[in-house]
Amino acid sequence: MKKTISRKTIPVRILPLLLGLAMPSVQASSRDFAACLDRLRFQATQRGISKATFDTHAARIEPDLSVLELLDAQPEFKTPIWDYLAGLVDEERVEDGRAMLEQWRDVLRQVEGRFGVDPATVVAVWGVESNFGRTLGQRPLLVSLGTLACMGRRQEYFRGEFLSTLKIIDEGHIAAERLTGSWAGAFGQTQFMPSTFLQLAVDFDGDGRRDLVDSVPDSLASTANFLHRGGWRSGEAWGFEVKLPPGFDTSGAGRRNKRPMSMWVGRGVKLANGEPLPAGGPDRALLLPAGENGPAFLVGKNFDVIYGYNAAESYALAIAHLSDRLRGGEVFRTPWPTDDPGISRAERRDLQRLLIERGHDIGTADGMIGTKTRQAIVQEQKTLGHEPNGRAGWRILEALRSMEGK
Ligand code: CA
Repeated sequence: MKKTISRKTIPVRILPLLLGLAMPSVQASSRDFAACLDRLRFQATQRGISKATFDTHAARIEPDLSVLELLDAQPEFKTPIWDYLAGLVDEERVEDGRAMLEQWRDVLRQVEGRFGVDPATVVAVWGVESNFGRTLGQRPLLVSLGTLACMGRRQEYFRGEFLSTLKIIDEGHIAAERLTGSWAGAFGQTQFMPSTFLQLAVDFDGDGRRDLVDSVPDSLASTANFLHRGGWRSGEAWGFEVKLPPGFDTSGAGRRNKRPMSMWVGRGVKLANGEPLPAGGPDRALLLPAGENGPAFLVGKNFDVIYGYNAAESYALAIAHLSDRLRGGEVFRTPWPTDDPGISRAERRDLQRLLIERGHDIGTADGMIGTKTRQAIVQEQKTLGHEPNGRAGWRILEALRSMEGK
């Protein structure tokens, strides 16, 4: 999703100050909000959006102050890359992805024919963005974006996204009530921002509407179009895991620092399985997502193109790795530099089940690690004498499993 505010930076904390916001300022700002909506109505008309569309869907929205808190919140808990990848690229997602490759094989073949992006890459983006269309976000887009267009520190940017949302409705692509998404406005199976939708979404099932909420063919084609327009090189691997020789000087590492393969060969870099690097081919850069003691990768242009979808190297690596797993590739050979590895979604659910059995009130075991689960983990870690970091990792899971029923 091409957007300047990444969904992946949404912090996990709940915002206790929300209800404590001074009431008089909320009342004053509700007048300001109405005035702002009036200005937006005028701007919408200037962009060719019908007055009827605005009046039906936007004229009476009420601001949702919780999105302002999310806009300004700093992440309280920084997710280590091994936790991030363990949740996004687990066996469940690999199996689901392989089933999707099979189910949508004909469409994916046509998509590759038109945009030059292979099925595994397209399905990997789909799996990471929306869990294959199952997780689209629940917040009404016009409410979130209307609020951010009139309040907070990035109003100009969000005004554009708000007006783009109205344009999508006005052109009849997606019904207003189907337009829900993240607090920052990413929506649908591809999690595009509305302006990205207008630029890049594709009608691939031929019904005349570009529908990234309810049409899988439109969603797959739009993802491929995004990557194609970002400069995707058909037939070229994103990169691969490598092994560095002992004492390797890693000062030249970095995604942008691409060098000829002959240089990497000359410096003793090998494939992760110890075999020689392929000689020749496009220039590649050394990526060390967890520093020199973790897995190492040589990445090329297509890694950058994936990065363009959501400006985070961990995100790009998740998609790249999932695409390899969907093709039958292995898990990384070099372990992450931690003695407490990340756990899959199935293991997260199991951890939550154990916490619930031990009397913690954390809701249902849905595999989503929120504030309540972290607090419960901290309590158990303290009892066990572990570092109380609130992480849902292998060590606390194993400890609780070993105590089960005792
Ligand atoms: Ca369509």
